[in-house]
Amino acid sequence: MKLIILGSYGPYPPAGGACSGYLLEHMGFYVLLDCGNGVLSRLQQFISPNKLSAIIVSHLHSDHISDLFILRYALQLELEQGVRDSPLQLISPDQPSDEYFRLPYKNVYQLETITEKERFTIGPFQFSFLKTIHPVCCYAIAVFVEGIKILVYSSDTEYFPELADFARGVPMFLCEANFLTEDLQKGARNHLSAFQAACLARDAGAEKLLLTHLPPFRNPQSYLDEALIAFKQVKTAEEGKVYFIESSDE
Ligand SMILES: [Zn+2]
Repeated sequence: MKLIILGSYGPYPPAGGACSGYLLEHMGFYVLLDCGNGVLSRLQQFISPNKLSAIIVSHLHSDHISDLFILRYALQLELEQGVRDSPLQLISPDQPSDEYFRLPYKNVYQLETITEKERFTIGPFQFSFLKTIHPVCCYAIAVFVEGIKILVYSSDTEYFPELADFARGVPMFLCEANFLTEDLQKGARNHLSAFQAACLARDAGAEKLLLTHLPPFRNPQSYLDEALIAFKQVKTAEEGKVYFIESSDE
């Protein structure tokens, strides 16, 4: 499976950067995880929007959904021109309801709701979900290919140990690290520090950790340095880079 980093910043991007957007590809199927600002432009460096099979959004904060409101114009044209023959599957939490009700637009999206109980199958992919700790309803996402959990994306969250169980033994753990420890010590909440992300990867027995959702105003190296204390196989997610992920059984 390919993981393509379209945007890796939060809660806003630096010059030339983009917020959360992670494109998965396997066997010609494309699924986008989150669609923050700047992601639609980046997506088209790799594929045309009509190649998308589905979008899954982890939660309804603007840095994860902004470009849904622009992508809808492209989808509308694709449907009118017959480039796309059906609405795009959009899988999302249904809370907060005022944000959820903003998503539908001229039938360009086929909306479906995330629950922890449900798994979604899209082409060769399966997805399952775990509720995280964040000010709005938010889900970590596990990606399965051929029945094997191959990637876990933390989405946005505070630290909670069950996230390590959810990511148990995964080849790639894509985890937010919005903070450094010093931020938590000053009372920052709602996100993980790079050290906490590394502890989760260690406790999960993950093979690799990719730090994402970094803020635009600090050198990424400081996040790497902090994570390396607890977990060695760590890198920061690089926008535009393609990561090849194989299950351990392959
Ligand atoms: Zn965010």
